[in-house]
Amino acid sequence: MKTKENEAKTYLGVPLYRPRVAFFEFSSCEGCQLQILNNEATLLDFLSLVEVVNFREAMTEKSNDYEIAFVEGSITRSDEVKRLKQIRKNAKILVALGSCACFGGVNQLKNRFKNLDWVKKRVYGKHPIESDMVRAVEDVVPVDLRIYGCPIKKEEVEKIVLHVALGKSINIPKYPVCMECKANENICLFDLGEPCLGPITRAGCDSWCPNERAGCWGCRGPAEDANVKQMKKIMKEKGFSEQTIMERLDCFGGFQKIK
Ligand code: SF4
Ligand code: SF4
Ligand code: SF4
Repeated sequence: MKTKENEAKTYLGVPLYRPRVAFFEFSSCEGCQLQILNNEATLLDFLSLVEVVNFREAMTEKSNDYEIAFVEGSITRSDEVKRLKQIRKNAKILVALGSCACFGGVNQLKNRFKNLDWVKKRVYGKHPIESDMVRAVEDVVPVDLRIYGCPIKKEEVEKIVLHVALGKSINIPKYPVCMECKANENICLFDLGEPCLGPITRAGCDSWCPNERAGCWGCRGPAEDANVKQMKKIMKEKGFSEQTIMERLDCFGGFQKIK
């Protein structure tokens, strides 16, 4: 809802409309929402861009009057489906926040087991809970925007929200993590004998893992035109086992449709 207070804000002299935003969590570790709260240096600036009306990790007030819904987590239960559909009805823009919401995330690993009752028994023992096959948010309701990563990068969320507030187009990188890794002048992990999915994974994390000398696990899903077949071939030539390759490709669910 536009209010006088909303319309009075400016950013670099440009009148800024502060959208009403809400954050919701489904099956997840809530680490993506935590990321938003984590970066204290820019939190106040970020909050000045938006009017937060729902954010369970940060406030007790609640409202169903919002324009942008950030949805974190995958969908695994019937009550979640019902709740998500209501959020979709309320929101003008629905954003899938993080790998769980975009692809099912680490939660979707359980989909590999045909017998979910067996999985539930192993995990919950004598205290079973409802937990069905894991679905990405877009498998239940239409999604307008995806913010990738496990967890998301706070800086990327801030940039996207700023663009929404200013009515500017949003460009999510289509190129692979290797581009950022090279720009950061890292030594390639393959040269150090480590596996890395950087060549086929969507950039935007500023090569977060290779910067710390850890190989990419593909948490942001595939880059545009990712050549998974060639990647598998190269990794095999470098001496990595099929299991090492598949563990990485399967981990977050982003490569399920193209591997
Ligand atoms: S994407 Fe990762 S950090 Fe975000 S909620 Fe899912 S498991 Fe947690
Ligand atoms: S370390 Fe990974 S991301 Fe960096 S250049 Fe090598 S393959 Fe690409
Ligand atoms: S380097 Fe790969 S695994 Fe690490 S944050 Fe970036 S996309 Fe995710």
